[in-house]
Amino acid sequence: MKKNTNWIIRGGRVIDPANKVDDIRDLWIYDGRIVEPDSFDAESAQIFNAEGKVVTPGLIDMHVHLRQPGNTDAETIRTGTMAAAAGGFTTIVAMPNTSPVADTAGAIQYVKEFAQREGMVHVLPAGALSVGLKGEQMAPIGSLKNAGAVVVTDDGRCIQNNELMRHVVEYANNFGLTVLDHCEDRSLARDGVMHEGYWSVLLGMKAMPSAAEETIVSRDIVLSRMTGAKIHLQHISAKNAVAMVRQAKRDGLSISAEATPHHIALTDVEIKRFDTNYKMNPPLRSEEDRLAVIAGLQDDTIEVIATDHAPHTQTRKLVEFDIAPFGIIGLETAVAVTLTELYHKNFLTLPQLISKFTTGPARVMGIDAGTLSIGGTADVTVMDVNANHVIDSSNFYSKSRNTPFNGYAAAGQVVATFVDGACVFMRPCEEF
Ligand SMILES: [Zn+2]
Repeated sequence: MKKNTNWIIRGGRVIDPANKVDDIRDLWIYDGRIVEPDSFDAESAQIFNAEGKVVTPGLIDMHVHLRQPGNTDAETIRTGTMAAAAGGFTTIVAMPNTSPVADTAGAIQYVKEFAQREGMVHVLPAGALSVGLKGEQMAPIGSLKNAGAVVVTDDGRCIQNNELMRHVVEYANNFGLTVLDHCEDRSLARDGVMHEGYWSVLLGMKAMPSAAEETIVSRDIVLSRMTGAKIHLQHISAKNAVAMVRQAKRDGLSISAEATPHHIALTDVEIKRFDTNYKMNPPLRSEEDRLAVIAGLQDDTIEVIATDHAPHTQTRKLVEFDIAPFGIIGLETAVAVTLTELYHKNFLTLPQLISKFTTGPARVMGIDAGTLSIGGTADVTVMDVNANHVIDSSNFYSKSRNTPFNGYAAAGQVVATFVDGACVFMRPCEEF
């Protein structure tokens, strides 16, 4: 059965940063596209009452691990995109560290085709930078692009050889692809499991210093200056990394950056719980670092918020802190956590916050999404920015439960998500 794709979303506060709209108005959707109000017979449309709600372009998450192919115990394209829909995301970028790695045209096509069939939201594949993410030999970037890769990254790993990285960014730039980099100098990070600082000393844990991130951020800025290539720095978490990106932007370089909700909300003090749901890479850092990341979001040094949604099964996570894998899920908590931490604490206005999930990532990747422009695809998110609720991970659509935000008291949540004009999520859930 074809889903209804004619809607009138009535009476909401429409915030569309791309078109500088922030106004109470109706949003009309006809046949999956945004249209002018009153441009078709209202009788044929379903009404969504958005009074008291905020209506935004469908959100974009440019950093998601869907785990398919290869690790479907933790997540599948189906469950990951259901989680995305429930979290207000209508477009997500699938990281290439699957098994097999997305370093061939076939692997990119697999994700694209599977997502078209099974996905609840748009899935854009990211291709690998190096063969097998090994950091030794360049992946066939041109054929990855032809197969549908929208960006290239070795996320989870980081190319350590600067000469190879130089050629990779030059090559990707020739194909018009932004390179996303997980900034981590392996010789400095070694086998650290948390941030190096007061708490790692107190707890006696193996630690990785901020310098591991800063060294590669600095390397990437140098390479961008040298080659003109567009480089996007993933999950920036260290104070000096933010400062370096700020200066690079002042210098007019093609550098961009993202922050995650967990680096915005949490610090390394949490590690004293020895709960592996606080173990991720880059690690939770100090309060000073957290505030620097927020300041970076405020002045647009950091233009993107991305979740780094990284599902792991309980069996893999419920082990000693030292040996647990890095990563937490984020799709279903990002909006609630960032509304609470950034909007309600007066760090960002709503239009600023929405831009980090819409125009920011769209611009970085050069994709046509993240707006409510007339004639465009009707990808729309509706949120109640004041809804007080306690996050309960047992309600998640994700196959995994590895979140530090279970029990978190949030102000604000997603109430409906529309993809191509079809409602793919509504709270209370009616549409799946
Ligand atoms: Zn990463």
